[in-house]
Amino acid sequence: MPVKTAPLQFTRKARPASQSAAAQALAACLQEGLPGRETLRRILGTQQPDEVDVIRQHAEQTLLKNCGDTVRLRGLIEFSNRCTSDCYYCGIRRSNKMPTRYTLTQDEIVDTARWCGEQGYGSVVLQSGERRDAKFVRFVSDTLRAIKETTHSVALPEGVGITLCVGEQSPETYAEWFDAGAHRYLLRMETSSPALFAALHPAEQRYESRIECLKTLKAIGYRVGTGVMIGLPGQTLDDLVDDLFFFRDIGADMIGMGPYIPHEQAALHGMPILDVPARMTLALRMIAATRLLLPSINIAATTALQTLAPDGREQGLRYGANVIMPQATPLRVRREYTLYDGKPCLDDSAGQCASCLEGRIHSVGRRLLRDHWGDPARR
Ligand code: SAM
Repeated sequence: MPVKTAPLQFTRKARPASQSAAAQALAACLQEGLPGRETLRRILGTQQPDEVDVIRQHAEQTLLKNCGDTVRLRGLIEFSNRCTSDCYYCGIRRSNKMPTRYTLTQDEIVDTARWCGEQGYGSVVLQSGERRDAKFVRFVSDTLRAIKETTHSVALPEGVGITLCVGEQSPETYAEWFDAGAHRYLLRMETSSPALFAALHPAEQRYESRIECLKTLKAIGYRVGTGVMIGLPGQTLDDLVDDLFFFRDIGADMIGMGPYIPHEQAALHGMPILDVPARMTLALRMIAATRLLLPSINIAATTALQTLAPDGREQGLRYGANVIMPQATPLRVRREYTLYDGKPCLDDSAGQCASCLEGRIHSVGRRLLRDHWGDPARR
């Protein structure tokens, strides 16, 4: 695989007593307007704690100015771990024979979505492994319609907002699901580097197909989310800067990205990667860089951040994220939806996840946006 710069490496330096001239220059540069390639590279690469403080503060201010101080909620329902794809990083890939495969019933999904609506979550994310057979397509359509029928209320006259995250599908399927009530779709690019994408997937999973899917989703009218994994084996800082421009150029409405975390039964396990603190800090800086480049979009503080640090999602909010996906998957199957090792909240009920959430969000000076879909204005 061609590599444009040396693979990621970090060493940490001691915090200086006052802000350096370099940090002041960076602050001045961030005041000037949208960051260019050099500034983004510096945001991702600097090792100076005072510069990181400047970056975080600017990202947070940009968020507050453009999106306000509310955190938007999407109850996460991992409704099936059956998957026909074989992504080399993922714990539920078809080649892994260890997980017990499950699909929730329509009633379980609808009941969970209704519960999310009653909590004031405003939106749900229906996520699963990837299937394209007719039975699955119909099952998803029927479930979408049933959720819409049962979740409307005075506060949510059109029912909960629904994000689908079910991978690559045909244009007809995307259109059918849109008509059935899904209005957002999350399809991560995983990386905008064609070479790195090829190293992460078998040949049948093509870079070009994923781009086509994203364009189709936009054309149909979905609010489109995408994202990448951060700290992948072989990934460079330039790859990540390219990812940021990719988000801009594809017209993303939402970004959901997080650190890459190995899974013991995935093919990439054992490949050299950054240590946990370095992957964490890089992921936070990717959030900040995205916020600075795309001030008004939604950015998720993902579960993968919480996997690397107990307060990872709160840190994500402080670096410019404004969406959280509280875990709502029924406990009986939650362990079987393990994308990477160390998934948090495996034994907490959805109710426990809901009650711990508000305190966490308040702890970083932010408020919950209840009973709203919480989409950004159209760009
Ligand atoms: N199959 C659908 C798709 O690919 O969009 C949805 C489910 S997929 C499991 C959801 C996301 O999990 C992927 O887009 C990927 O970024 C993330 N993921 C999978 N394995 C991961 C890992 N080892 N570390 C971090 N994120 C991972």
